Amino acid sequence: MPLNNFVLTVIGAGALGSEVLQKISGRGFGVVRAIDGDIVTEKNKLNQPLYSGVDTSNPVYKSDAIVSLLSNGSKTNFVSVPEYVGEKRASSLIEGSSMVLDFTDNTFSRLVINQACVEKGIPLLIASVNEKEGFYYIIDKGACFNCLYRNLSGKIKEGCYGAPLHVPDNFSSMIADAAESFFSGAVEGDWVSSSFTDGRVTKTAIKKDGMCEVCSLHEHKPIKADGFIQICGDGIKFSLQRDINLKTLFGDEPGAIIENGICVIKSGTKSILLSSAGDVLFTGYSEQEARKFISERLFGA
Ligand SMILES: [Zn+2]
Repeated sequence: MPLNNFVLTVIGAGALGSEVLQKISGRGFGVVRAIDGDIVTEKNKLNQPLYSGVDTSNPVYKSDAIVSLLSNGSKTNFVSVPEYVGEKRASSLIEGSSMVLDFTDNTFSRLVINQACVEKGIPLLIASVNEKEGFYYIIDKGACFNCLYRNLSGKIKEGCYGAPLHVPDNFSSMIADAAESFFSGAVEGDWVSSSFTDGRVTKTAIKKDGMCEVCSLHEHKPIKADGFIQICGDGIKFSLQRDINLKTLFGDEPGAIIENGICVIKSGTKSILLSSAGDVLFTGYSEQEARKFISERLFGA
């Protein structure tokens, strides 16, 4: 079947996701959906060159920025979905996908996306990078991400703790190639890692875990659902996974600016950004402060 019959859903448009999106933009896929609730910051521009032209004086979603950049002259229909994927929205957000590409690089999102894809029988490509190498793995009939997680619990590194790095061109191309060849049946279920120092590519066969709750036993348990997507040193992401009325909640808030479905509350060097989709990004706040704000202002309101 020609590639224009397929719908790719790309979750995470950061350092790796944005590069892969660019690499797949000219390949003739019918629809490419870019999902990310993050906005472009000045810091992003260091390792995410596709965003270098974005004016960050007002909040701009990464998904909107990349879709407007790549839509220009492309035959692919690019769709921006500026939302965080959490446990409540995962299923509906991936609906209708021929393949999901997960570049979120945090364990919670990975588990949620993995479970939704296995339940719906949608193939999933997960990929990540660190300072030395990049990995990708395609989940179809074989071992799923939960099989790996059960056996590596505690050893999976969260992406936000690595140093910002620019993803080598050949690695993002390799992932675009893997996604494309999947549709011609040419990809095996191996864990593929590519060294950034000597260019060596190694493949490791991953065994399906017969006790995996997700792909073997199908006894799906709800995944930790406190709404936190990621807690990093410089930013905390939280998602209510439902729409909110910003004007009602924060219309009278001192220092709050509400515009185009986004509310920004600044206080000194700290800021809180809320979207009408119920996503919140804290910058400069401690986890304790973020939890207090959420319980008092979003749940207690
Ligand atoms: Zn599994």
